Amino acid sequence: MPTREELIADVVRNLEAPPGSLAFTPALEDYYRTAIADRRRRSMIFASLIGLSVLAAFVVQRAFFTDVDVEPFAFRRWLATMAAIALVAFAVLVATLASRTHRTIDRVSITGVVVVAALVSVSFRVEVGAAATIGIYAWMMVPLAAANLASLHFRQALTAIVISDAIYAVALFTSPTLDPLLHVPAFLLMLSVSAMTLWGNFRNDRDHRSLFLFLTRERLLAEMSAEQNAALREMTTRDTLTGIGNRRAFEERFAAIRAETGGDSLAVVMIDIDHFKAFNDLYGHLEGDRCLTAVARALAGTLRGHGDLVARIGGEEFVVLAPGVGTEDLPVLLERLRRGVERLAIPHAAAEEAGRDVVTVSLGCVVLPGEARIGRREALERADRALYAAKRGGRNRWEVDDPTVGQTVKPA
Ligand code: GH3
Ligand code: MG
Ligand code: MG
Repeated sequence: MPTREELIADVVRNLEAPPGSLAFTPALEDYYRTAIADRRRRSMIFASLIGLSVLAAFVVQRAFFTDVDVEPFAFRRWLATMAAIALVAFAVLVATLASRTHRTIDRVSITGVVVVAALVSVSFRVEVGAAATIGIYAWMMVPLAAANLASLHFRQALTAIVISDAIYAVALFTSPTLDPLLHVPAFLLMLSVSAMTLWGNFRNDRDHRSLFLFLTRERLLAEMSAEQNAALREMTTRDTLTGIGNRRAFEERFAAIRAETGGDSLAVVMIDIDHFKAFNDLYGHLEGDRCLTAVARALAGTLRGHGDLVARIGGEEFVVLAPGVGTEDLPVLLERLRRGVERLAIPHAAAEEAGRDVVTVSLGCVVLPGEARIGRREALERADRALYAAKRGGRNRWEVDDPTVGQTVKPA
């Protein structure tokens, strides 16, 4: 399977080819035939069914309504050929339904047309008198109609029709029962019908192919630009240092959650690393960056809810969005976040609090009830207020900006 870029290059190359050229480059040809395999399968089924119904009508008409006087023996032979044709048409139908690739459909269709052509040629040879004369004119339409009804590609139609015409000519010119005066006009008629069929088939094939080229180019380009847009979006919403979302990711997700969840509450948590300035001063900025990355991963790792987001919205400040989290579940979430960082056990010898020697975070949270029309800015302000309270209260702890839960402080 060629890549999309290869396909586009191929499509462009084929679009630049002189108009009327029917062959695509091999990879594109395969792609094209695979793409239209279903359409061809439907056409073949349609052609087989039409063929079978015409055959049935023809047999009924000959058996019951015709005045042409036929000797019983010739009629039985004719009926046997009809049965053979019906069998072939039925086999083509079954083979088409069973075929999985365009190659099998192609083979079935060409073989089907040629075999039916051979059988119909036999059918007028086994008749006598007027019936045989009617036969040669009626049957010359069959392979030609089949080629079009089955939507053969031009080259397939050419192959099928050349072979059919040859069989027809042999059957015609060697017929023991036909008036020799009919040979040449019947054959000329067959040739002109063949030429018209092939001309129509050629134009169909050519138009269909050029339409396919244009549509494929449009589709591939649209797919490519959709992918580039997605990649661009990903780039603009990802924090390059830590790999989690950035401020824009937070803003977009906040708006999306508020737009979709309607009745659900939303927990907004602000998280700030404790004494991070001192950490940087002591260990250096590079180590500071590593610490930021580790903290970001730890925070992301503790999130469980579908639709939760953690983003880095400032230097060493993070925000967590947890849709569906209400005031009851909040302590569990906040404790998990706080402990997740503490458990990293990143040494921090400059932490001011007595007895603390690892990197910790303080958290401030606000729960927005589903119906509350509180915007992003206000939510952050309130979470920040709670965060400030947590800092003042001794750090490595959380506070909630909500009088009902708010002042519960877990011992750090
Ligand atoms: P507090 O416990 O009160 O939060 O004290 P703090 O020192 O952490 O104070 P603050 O939150 O104001 O600290 C901000 C510091 O974070 C300043 C800067 O040294 C550091 N910082 C901000 N962004 C980055 C960054 O991208 N990389 C590194 N290494 N450090 C950063
Ligand atoms: Mg800060
Ligand atoms: Mg800080």
